[in-house]
Amino acid sequence: QKTIDNIAAGEVIERPASVVKELVENAIDASASAVTVEIKDGGMTLIRVTDNGCGIPKDQVKTAFLRHATSKIQSVEDLMTVSSLGFRGEALSSISAVAQVELVTKTAEGFSGVSYKIYGGQEEDFCDIGAPDGTTFLVKNLFYNTPARRKFLKSPAAEAGYVEQIMVHMALSHPEISFKFISSNKNKMYTAGNGKVKDIIYHIYGREIARALIPVEAETENVSLRGFVGKPHVSRGNRNYESYFINGRYIKSALIYRAIEEAYKTFTMTHKYPFVCLELSIRPELLDVNVHPTKMEIRFENGNEIFDLLVESIRKALLQQDL
Ligand code: ADP
Ligand code: MG
Repeated sequence: QKTIDNIAAGEVIERPASVVKELVENAIDASASAVTVEIKDGGMTLIRVTDNGCGIPKDQVKTAFLRHATSKIQSVEDLMTVSSLGFRGEALSSISAVAQVELVTKTAEGFSGVSYKIYGGQEEDFCDIGAPDGTTFLVKNLFYNTPARRKFLKSPAAEAGYVEQIMVHMALSHPEISFKFISSNKNKMYTAGNGKVKDIIYHIYGREIARALIPVEAETENVSLRGFVGKPHVSRGNRNYESYFINGRYIKSALIYRAIEEAYKTFTMTHKYPFVCLELSIRPELLDVNVHPTKMEIRFENGNEIFDLLVESIRKALLQQDL
């Protein structure tokens, strides 16, 4: 059983950033309005995720760590139709199989909070404890029992960088949630949760980019598009300044990359890549989602429609601005 858990965990949990992604998604699914993530040593020795969400009822704490014990959706087909980010019900079991996990959680209805400790998949402690409403996960010493996997990790700084990327995506796609990110006792990111993507972009990417934003908005029967693109003269040498979200999930898409290139083709760029932050809502039937535990590949039934919509609406936005 243990081996099975470890193999399964290997697919979902590759590095500290995967732990953070899963725990933050759970916090979002729990309707949190504030999420704090703290890591030490790039998350290798410590990851703490605190939310003010609904909490886990005492009688469901242990089952939450069993494989496929999800309280959320049942099939991959549902994936793009439901609003929850979690769907496999294997994150907690996978994380607890390869780390020392300590959980403190309390629901609004619960008389007290619950503390649960599970190390390498083995229960260490389960007791009542005073706690505020919400949930805190402490994940210590990732891969302490699977040294072979630990070898694939990069330096603490590189791992912290991956975690920061996850936090950036989470903040941009959930502007209504306040996120705080602390890495080795340094405040790295704070978003107010006021719903304004522009404020988040300013905070993360700085003034030059924030001052060169052009809003984009478009809608067809199947797709709605909104977000910001950067003026061509404020462009960058790599794709770190592009993010795309489909139905609330961060994705990468060759089709979208091509559409952006096409839209900017006739403008004079200082560098190859513009700043882009776009959110697409697409009718789920039009998405073909191939889910591997660690990544998500999306194909569009209406690829041409999406391509044309992106190119046209971005070009229009660019032409309307005095560049
Ligand atoms: P999934 O998210 O796919 O359902 P997980 O293994 O990530 O599976 O989580 C298992 C279950 O634990 C969730 O379905 C949810 O009921 C509960 N849970 C996990 N994290 C939280 C949290 N931060 N707040 C409230 N409930 C949580
Ligand atoms: Mg989950």
